[in-house]
Amino acid sequence: MSLKTRKGFIFVISGPSGSGKTTIAKRLLTQPRLKGRIIKPVSFTTRPKRPGEKQGKDYCFVSAREFDRLLKEKKILEHTRYLGYDYGTPRDSVERVINKGQHAVFCLDLSGAAFIKKAYPDRAITIFVKPPSLDVAKKRILLRSNKTPPEEVYRRMRVAGEELRSAGSYDYCLVNDNLNKVIKEAKEIVRWAIYQ
Ligand code: ADP
Ligand code: 5GP
Repeated sequence: MSLKTRKGFIFVISGPSGSGKTTIAKRLLTQPRLKGRIIKPVSFTTRPKRPGEKQGKDYCFVSAREFDRLLKEKKILEHTRYLGYDYGTPRDSVERVINKGQHAVFCLDLSGAAFIKKAYPDRAITIFVKPPSLDVAKKRILLRSNKTPPEEVYRRMRVAGEELRSAGSYDYCLVNDNLNKVIKEAKEIVRWAIYQ
């Protein structure tokens, strides 16, 4: 008799640029009790690689032409355009992970989070991360080791106001005023879901 594997959960983290979503997602992957059980699938993007980012690890960096080909071949589950660049979730990533009983954590924009929530209403848990203020988010991006040009920081902050207005549609909203605190809260959300 074969035991059917229980499907995993999909944690989607959104928030304005500089809110800390990537840091939180990466830290979840290395938590002792979650290591190996929670995976961060790699999105495709046409945005240029920042210093320090690794191909296939942070993103799968592709040309606009390649992105179009992936779309045509239906290899992308959902996609968005952010500040002139395309970003897309690989179609097989969600099913592959959750069908194995593992859990997935994605950092997606508002449309990506809404798409995943609609497609997987009983599996998806959405978390919005707010910076203490947009000024703090701006400072954090400017201090980030993978230098973002100041003009791009300005454009990111213009989008951030609109992003913040959507926080109420998420399952959880966390304020990243202290990294250890917010990681503890994110861990609690994950543990509550997977051990219930
Ligand atoms: P996002 O993915 O939302 O754009 P990041 O995770 O890249 O944001 O975080 C932006 C920068 O802010 C990084 O350099 C990160 O180390 C730093 N950071 C994140 N959270 C905090 C915090 N609570 N206090 C200080 N710096 C932080
Ligand atoms: P960044 O350039 O800061 O890495 O990402 C810009 C925005 O695109 C962030 O809000 C990030 O979460 C989002 N994003 C990254 N990959 C994807 C994706 O595959 N789909 C969607 N919808 N958003 C993504």
